[in-house]
Amino acid sequence: MSVSRTVLVLGGTTEGRAAAAALAGRDDVRVVSSLAGAVRSPALPEGEVRIGGFGGADGLAAHLQAERVAAVLDATHPFAATMTANAAVACARTGVPLVVLRRPGWSPGPGDRWHRVGSVAAAAAGLSALLPGAGGRVLLTTGRGGLGHFTRVDAAFWIRAVDPPDGPLPARHTVLLDRGPFALDDERALLSTVDPHVLVTKDSGGTATAPKLTAARERGVPVVVVDRPPLPAGVAVESTVHAALTRLLRE
Ligand code: NAP
Repeated sequence: MSVSRTVLVLGGTTEGRAAAAALAGRDDVRVVSSLAGAVRSPALPEGEVRIGGFGGADGLAAHLQAERVAAVLDATHPFAATMTANAAVACARTGVPLVVLRRPGWSPGPGDRWHRVGSVAAAAAGLSALLPGAGGRVLLTTGRGGLGHFTRVDAAFWIRAVDPPDGPLPARHTVLLDRGPFALDDERALLSTVDPHVLVTKDSGGTATAPKLTAARERGVPVVVVDRPPLPAGVAVESTVHAALTRLLRE
């Protein structure tokens, strides 16, 4: 890569911040991280930062050209499927190289009682079968989106999210405002307090939010795991920051 080429990092994740930090230390790269603006006080990466949507794939394509972006690293969360799809379209259209950084998903270990489902809606639809009937308790850690699906489930919900959720919520709920990384002892304490019959999570992968899975296993709590949306066909994918940057800077 020649002197001071602009790399756009689509971020909002631990990996996005790590990639920006690595690129910020290079003389031959100008790194600009992009955040959606979805959380009120985001953890800011090193280097330049822009906040807010681009206006779909068309808007992103125009941005890539206007800013003379030389390469794009999509380090968004595995469930940020719209942004990832838009990046694939915009980069293909403009000829800007794209690498998607996707951390590996989680795998169940001995003692885990996981139920994999294809969507948050499916998680809600199958939840009653895992509850004892009246008095069911659910620890919901799928974030602010899609909570309306759970309004039809007759249970008490503890909803953990970074910012207060808006939109329809289950009638009986407690919001727990918190942000990872979460320590195992804290997750043990949370599960001990809530004593859920079921934990619901996305398959986010990574270590920051994995301790809840260990705590659930220790207590024998079933976990509903929402599978990741598929990646766009044909995109270059790497699973570590190092591999993704190596590939990106080779382009
Ligand atoms: P999404 O559904 O894929 O994207 C919705 C829209 O938000 C996009 O079309 C885009 O708007 C804008 N957007 C998303 N990521 C952006 C970014 N990095 N920079 C600029 N605009 C962005 O995304 P989401 O699931 O709402 O997630 C939003 C952000 O939160 C992502 O950056 C993601 O990395 C982070 N995050 C998401 C989750 C999760 O569970 N989904 C968890 C942790 C962090 P325009 O179409 O206007 O460009």
